[in-house]
Amino acid sequence: VTDWQGKNVTVAGLGVSGIPAAKVLHGLGAKVTVVNDGDDARAREQAAGLQELGVTVRLGDGATLPEGTELIVTAPGWKPDKPLFTAAAAAGVPVWGDVELAWRLRGPDAAPWLCVTGTNGKTTTTQMLASILKAAGLRTAAVGNIGVSLLDAVLGEERYDVLAVELSSYQLHWAPSLRAHSATVLNLAPDHLDWHGSMDAYAKDKGRVYEGNRVACVYNVADKATEDLVREADVEEGCRAVGFTLGAPGPSQLGVVDGILVDRAFVENRQKNAQELAEVSDVNPPAPHNIANALAAAALARAFGVPAKAVRDGLRAFTPDAHRIAHVADLDGVAYVDDSKATNTHAAEASLAAYESIVWIAGGLAKGATFDELVTRSAKRLRGVVLIGADRALIREALARHAPEVPVVDLERTDTGAMLAAVQEARGLAAEGDTVLLAPACASMDMFVNYNQRGDAFAQAVRELGA
Ligand code: ADP
Repeated sequence: VTDWQGKNVTVAGLGVSGIPAAKVLHGLGAKVTVVNDGDDARAREQAAGLQELGVTVRLGDGATLPEGTELIVTAPGWKPDKPLFTAAAAAGVPVWGDVELAWRLRGPDAAPWLCVTGTNGKTTTTQMLASILKAAGLRTAAVGNIGVSLLDAVLGEERYDVLAVELSSYQLHWAPSLRAHSATVLNLAPDHLDWHGSMDAYAKDKGRVYEGNRVACVYNVADKATEDLVREADVEEGCRAVGFTLGAPGPSQLGVVDGILVDRAFVENRQKNAQELAEVSDVNPPAPHNIANALAAAALARAFGVPAKAVRDGLRAFTPDAHRIAHVADLDGVAYVDDSKATNTHAAEASLAAYESIVWIAGGLAKGATFDELVTRSAKRLRGVVLIGADRALIREALARHAPEVPVVDLERTDTGAMLAAVQEARGLAAEGDTVLLAPACASMDMFVNYNQRGDAFAQAVRELGA
């Protein structure tokens, strides 16, 4: 679409993506109608701001397709089986998400996109990538699900050489024409299946990130599903599949040899021997899953032609966001670590794998997950477990089945004071050299506003204990 003048565009959903999209489209001359399911005080306030500009807003009905709609721009979270989309399909009306809109609106000399998706590690990897690109002297930003919004990055004043783009499976579902320079699916584990309908559909949406890649499709050697997605993708001629592994790398792979991150030369750098990129100790924190994130970021940066030295400098300059394996304090030789962001079992398994002897604080909202695999794989590392939150019985039962010898304290609490009690119990179970690890494997909303507040409560409790 190049001529927006008078075009009837329906924006689905008021919110972080809908409001800026409505403003931009209105500014381009489109006739914009925003539809929204909710009709509460907040929605009315947001609607008023748009109505002042001349945008039509329909609150309390996100199901009916407005008459004359030529295009829908939807918030990424809207489920594909909504009646609005059924009606759109019947009427032949295309549906774009926020990412598709940004992609279509980017200028002719726009910066290429290096895209990151996966079940876990997206934010961390995208930020590592941006840090590496910056270390190479490139003008860049971490955008998408994080930091700068994609629309701002594409339409704003700031000029970029390349963008590090984090994409969710929802955003990819609604981004049919996106074509990345290079992209990665970090890993694939069941998540958001209620939205996508099945694991197959979820994987397919993640795999969209590889479609049309020009230079490299980066996959996880340890997660065959990601490699399968590369194989199924239709890419530009000459585009390479590049693997990352925690072991020694094969051809066209990045890996680890003797504590050093190495690169088996690819793209413009066709040497026979592996090239040193960085040391494991340059990765913050140097937990196995995070080294995998660093390798994926390095692979994308290398595909863009960044020199090896920038990988090291960029990784050294990187600090993770809060609540991601954050070391809070040491008390009596016991480390207290906050990984409140481990909101699903796949993430919690990765963080448990980073320590040898753990007192694990877990529980919250399970979102339909089962805990048998997680407990089976982590049992030998557990010194003890403290359970909090609404769905703790599911974890308690899995522990009874697969790790009956591990002592479990079931706090039977969901009040806000529970975290202090949990940390006290954990301290009682821990011995010198252990790690007390908050990696809940569950969402936080039963007890907290979000994972940030949960992590803050943990850190506060540790400080009180230490005082
Ligand atoms: P996302 O943006 O995908 O949610 P984050 O980088 O914010 O990912 O990390 C979220 C959590 O997932 C971390 O706190 C950690 O527990 C876990 N995690 C990070 N990277 C990985 C990975 N590569 N594999 C498995 N789990 C990971």
